[in-house]
Amino acid sequence: MSNLHAAGHDLDAGSAAVDSDTPVEKFREFLEIRGDKLTEPRRVVVRHIFHSHKHFDADELVRDLHDAGKAVSRSTVYRTLRLLVEAGLLRELRLTNRTAFEHDYGYPQHDHLHCTSCNRIVEFRNEQVKELRDAVSRAHGFRASGHRFLITGICASCSRSHTPRRRLDLI
Ligand SMILES: [Zn+2]
Ligand SMILES: [Zn+2]
Repeated sequence: MSNLHAAGHDLDAGSAAVDSDTPVEKFREFLEIRGDKLTEPRRVVVRHIFHSHKHFDADELVRDLHDAGKAVSRSTVYRTLRLLVEAGLLRELRLTNRTAFEHDYGYPQHDHLHCTSCNRIVEFRNEQVKELRDAVSRAHGFRASGHRFLITGICASCSRSHTPRRRLDLI
């Protein structure tokens, strides 16, 4: 993934072989199969997204691109996000009050905690979740290829900042 950190430098034809495993190339292949093209704005969006691993929603991405001086229309961003999910490069996380996206390609399987107060998303890996998934699947004669496990609630820092108010309420 290190070659993705050269932000602002376009992948030229000469480096195509080196970049064949990058999300940009994977996306190009996906689009070509559909008879579609990796346009320059789409490439800008993909390179921006895969520059760093984080959870983001569509509007955040639109703002980020704008702040970075990259002029990509809102509709292109939304359409590109949908295509990246279809291509298996991004994973969609349906949260209580919003939809977030994160890298799927080349990133290990993990699960999430979502704080409904500050919207923070925390990643965790726990083998027992996978073991439980496999046990449930076996019991149903099901071959699992993936799962979604999302814990919603209040994070540690939100419950700390809310504690004094609750205490006052009790007086
Ligand atoms: Zn929180
Ligand atoms: Zn995640």
